[in-house]
Amino acid sequence: MLMSEWDKLIPKPRSKFLRVKCSDCGNEQIVFNSTTLTVNCNVCGAVLAEPSGGKAKIRGEIVAELE
Ligand SMILES: [Zn+2]
Repeated sequence: MLMSEWDKLIPKPRSKFLRVKCSDCGNEQIVFNSTTLTVNCNVCGAVLAEPSGGKAKIRGEIVAELE
């Protein structure tokens, strides 16, 4: 089955970019809220987000949501 067919079958949460603050070092960086990759802090390497059922599980503090 093609990915485009899956897109029609599975309703997806609206994709957003989140500004996430690292709880370890305070660094802020942009994280895609439906990432399929683990996102690490660019400064200290702490996990900021990890994939969870097609949606990112945010580990840090969300300081802003960007459309
Ligand atoms: Zn950090």
